[in-house]
Amino acid sequence: MNIPMLLEMAAGAADDREAVRCGDEALTYAELHDRASVLAGRLSADGVENVALLALNSVDVPVLQFAAAAAGIPFVPLNYRLTDAQLDAALERLGSGLLVTDDGAGRELSLPAGVVSVPSAEVRAWSTDPTSPRCDGMDVSGDAVALKLFTSGTTGAPKTALIRHRHLSSYIVATVEFLGCGPEESILVSVPNYHIAGVTSVLSSTYSGRRMVQLPTFEPAQWVEVARAEAVTHAMVVPTMLNRILDELERAPGGLPHLRSLSYGGGRMPVPVLERALAALPGTSFVNAYGLTETSSTIAVLGPEDHRAALASSDPEVRARLGSVGRPLDSVEIEVRDVLGQPVPVGESGEIFVRGDQIAGEYASHSAVVDGWYPTRDRGRLDADGYLFLEGRADDVIVRGGENISPGEIEDVLLAHESVAEVAVVGVPDTEWGERVEAMAVASEGHVIDEAVLQEWVRRHLRSTRVPSRVIATAVLPYNETGKLLRREVKQSLRQEVVGA
Ligand code: ATP
Repeated sequence: MNIPMLLEMAAGAADDREAVRCGDEALTYAELHDRASVLAGRLSADGVENVALLALNSVDVPVLQFAAAAAGIPFVPLNYRLTDAQLDAALERLGSGLLVTDDGAGRELSLPAGVVSVPSAEVRAWSTDPTSPRCDGMDVSGDAVALKLFTSGTTGAPKTALIRHRHLSSYIVATVEFLGCGPEESILVSVPNYHIAGVTSVLSSTYSGRRMVQLPTFEPAQWVEVARAEAVTHAMVVPTMLNRILDELERAPGGLPHLRSLSYGGGRMPVPVLERALAALPGTSFVNAYGLTETSSTIAVLGPEDHRAALASSDPEVRARLGSVGRPLDSVEIEVRDVLGQPVPVGESGEIFVRGDQIAGEYASHSAVVDGWYPTRDRGRLDADGYLFLEGRADDVIVRGGENISPGEIEDVLLAHESVAEVAVVGVPDTEWGERVEAMAVASEGHVIDEAVLQEWVRRHLRSTRVPSRVIATAVLPYNETGKLLRREVKQSLRQEVVGA
């Protein structure tokens, strides 16, 4: 199957129902299908090689995404929060193509030869031109590149991941079947369109025939207001968004009575935040989705039943599953391997490798897949029942005197203390131990960060090797635009603290 077939099927089944809404603008499935085929005809006729996008979420985004797919050319959504210099570098890598920008983007970009910029209003006019030839894309090969996506750049410079039609369609079929979403439902999408979760939410929403309600950007009060006004049944957030939504629900009581399920992922969910959400939204099912850009998004899922069972259990091992990312999707295999590339026994830590039809693992210059297996660079372990526990990026694990320490475990304990609103735990170089544990924390309202108190708190809950040598108070922690903690910047600040002291 290719991407245009997903839309063709949905449009056939649900033509007069709303497919996508953003504020006052909406498109039915028939309109989305129509505009995408007309625009694809124009892109094909003009011989466009890539379609890049630099714009906030709007109803035009799915049109462009499906039009590029039907024309058989890559869709390249760009991060509008990048600096001009970073965007110039990204466009340089694009080669030739069309850059669709929204009217408010207002950026002075130096376009490389071969890249032509067009305002999204003009592209919208192309997509509604009744005289244009159409292209439905049914014959696009599953091997054609559907997406060129820049990774989040959490661990270094963003990489250009290539994802093919067959990867995305395998993924969409697997997740929609797993989640069992249907046409009577709706999903609130506030993740940006340049993130894999933004791209796949358009596809899975369309494939399931449900209604997608978009927000151009994430702002908690607006998110809660729209979720209530549009009676959305599903939503997807990254962990930092969830915490802010919960604060908002305390400020504006009334809950989210229509929200049947909330998916979260993209970064580590602190267990205290999850417990707060489970208590605040008792009528909502929760889904933790773990995945990477290179794997076409989700590869493992902690489903609603797992959350309920963990919450109700007095068995510490089952309860601990709230901190796991669940089990691999049926269509995916996961293996944990040691440094020699050998699978480790159940319960032991190593690097997570993944295999399956949705795994792309390919970059502009090379493929990272060996014998079908993609190395995620995440560390983790599987328990006897197949639940996967992430321990952080291979680069984030703190190695203190030969012992591997997961920063997340310490962060969860610190977050459970009333004085801590946000925290980052990292390893810093140490002459005696190789690395030592240090923390930076933001105080919760009405509290201060007291290093001695927090060290004692960690000592009461974890082994002494986990106690941070320092806990530095800070007003803010560095996150990227999708809410991922930038640990390398925290490390940098902690080093400067030492130099400055
Ligand atoms: P870069 O590769 O450029 O450093 P990135 O890896 O952050 O950026 P993404 O592909 O957006 O780019 O993120 C994938 C990573 O996000 C995973 O490898 C994992 O570390 C983290 N992640 C994703 N989902 C979850 C989740 N549910 N729980 C914990 N971590 C997650």
